[in-house]
Amino acid sequence: LGIDISRGGDMVLGPRCFETPGVDDTKYTRGMVAIISGAMPGAAALAAEATMRAGAGYVLLLGGKSPPGAPHALVRRGWSAEALEEKRIGCVLVGPGLGRDEAARAKLYAALASDHALVIDGDALHLLDGRTFHDRGQPVIVTPHAGEFAAMFGKPEGSKIEAARAAAAKSGATIVFKGPDTVIAEPGGHVTVAPGGSAWLSTAGTGDVLAGAVAAMAGYALGRGPRYWVGDAVWLHAEAARRLGGAFIADDLARELSAVRASL
Ligand code: AMP
Ligand code: MG
Repeated sequence: LGIDISRGGDMVLGPRCFETPGVDDTKYTRGMVAIISGAMPGAAALAAEATMRAGAGYVLLLGGKSPPGAPHALVRRGWSAEALEEKRIGCVLVGPGLGRDEAARAKLYAALASDHALVIDGDALHLLDGRTFHDRGQPVIVTPHAGEFAAMFGKPEGSKIEAARAAAAKSGATIVFKGPDTVIAEPGGHVTVAPGGSAWLSTAGTGDVLAGAVAAMAGYALGRGPRYWVGDAVWLHAEAARRLGGAFIADDLARELSAVRASL
């Protein structure tokens, strides 16, 4: 795959930081994730289900209309930037189904103003306006597909690995450059290449499931460093697709995350 190990790189070989809950764990210690909903609440609901099934203890779904089909255990609140002041939040996910209007922009910038780790996906990637993250205390993970990557950083020059590495260095974010193979690049130059799970992933909503899985892992493995927990989420998503075989939809994929986790 052309990865340059000498410049800091490896392959995702399998899960590295999934944990089994201990007797002292509570829904809060297992990771609380806030997900900001918007114009298409179904996408946020799908991400929320994936977040729960990837192992988070608690999802706070903020904003948007009441999403269809969201898991019953979710706590839903209307949008308020103050809700992001909750100290127990381990990670904020913003972007799936957010929309690109002024309300969407206000929600994104409230998330950026918070102290939490951030996963930024989908519509929110179009609203960043070249913003960089070098000065942020907590990690920022962006999860563009090829079109979103080009909108953020311009058309990639050179290999996908080099393009992702340059984008990470420039932005100060960990880049999850999605596609048939997914490249995870950190601002410090480390790159992980995750082989594709299945071409059946080319269906609507699978990216929302991935974003939810990444946010779940951040919620409880933040201290281990993005290379481990982002890598685990990308692996989990691909493994769920491999196990499903074919002709699945994103809802099936979200559900399968539980099955993969249960088998570890
Ligand atoms: P999105 O484009 O945001 O919906 O995300 C799609 C998800 O499916 C990402 O995780 C991609 O890496 C994955 N994906 C899409 N197409 C393929 C493909 N042909 N082969 C493998 N993975 C794919
Ligand atoms: Mg997407």
